[in-house]
Amino acid sequence: MKLTQTVHVVGGGRFGFGISGSLDCHVYLLNAGSEYILVDPGLGLGDDFSTVLDNIRADGIDPKRIRRMILTHYHCDHIGAAAEARTRLDCEVFSSKLAAPVIRAGDEKAVSLDVARAVGFYPADYHLPPCPVDRELVENDTLQIGDLTLTAFETPGHCDGHLSFLVSGGDRTYLLGADLVFWGGRILLQTIHDCRIPEYAESVFKVEKLEFDALLPGHLQISLQEGKRHILQAAQSFRQLGVPPNLM
Ligand SMILES: [Zn+2]
Repeated sequence: MKLTQTVHVVGGGRFGFGISGSLDCHVYLLNAGSEYILVDPGLGLGDDFSTVLDNIRADGIDPKRIRRMILTHYHCDHIGAAAEARTRLDCEVFSSKLAAPVIRAGDEKAVSLDVARAVGFYPADYHLPPCPVDRELVENDTLQIGDLTLTAFETPGHCDGHLSFLVSGGDRTYLLGADLVFWGGRILLQTIHDCRIPEYAESVFKVEKLEFDALLPGHLQISLQEGKRHILQAAQSFRQLGVPPNLM
C-alpha cells in the first residue's frame, strides 16, 4: 500500500492495517530510488511473509529490488520473519549492536518470548528463528542508501537495543519510531526484564530534539504531518515525572 512517494506499508496485523499476519507490526518499505529498504518484516507465522511479498508485488515493486532490511528492535512481532526474509530476498540485515547477538542466536529469553508465549501472546509452539545480522549500528550511525539518509538513534526503554531512525532525502522527513511512541503520545511499557521507565524518558527527550514531519510507528495510526506532536505529548508527561498513557 503506497503511503507516500517514499513509504509503502506492506504488512501489518490487527494493530495495523490488517494486511498480513494478525500479530505483525507495521512492515514498511522505503523507496530509496535505486533500491528499496524493508523495515521490520513482522512475525512471519506460517506463510505470512509470503503475504508481505504479495503486498509488495501488488504495489508494482519487484522484491528483488529490496537490498537491505532494517530491524528496529528484537521483539518477535517485528523480527520473527527476519530469517525467512533474509533468505528469500538475499538482502543485507542491519540491527543495533546490542540486538545483533540476540537476533543471531534467536535468544528467546532475551527477547521475552518465553514470557510472551506463556501468557498466550504468541502461539504455544512458536519459536524465534535465528537470523544472521550483517551490520551492527550504534548511536548516530548514518546510512546513505540511494536517495535516502538514515540516521540511527539508540532509544531504549521499550526494550534494550531499540533503535529509531531519522529518514531524510525522500518526499518529507520521517521518524521511524518503531515502538518508542504511538499516536496521542502513548508508549508501550510491559513487565519484561528490559523495559525501563527512566531510559524510556531519556529516549523520548532525545527524539524530541529532532526535526521531522512524519511519525512512522510500529503499530496503530501513522502521522504524515506534524508527527512530532505525539513525541511532544509523551515528553510532556515524562517531564512532569509522570508516565505517558500506556498501550497495554
Ligand atoms: Zn516491541
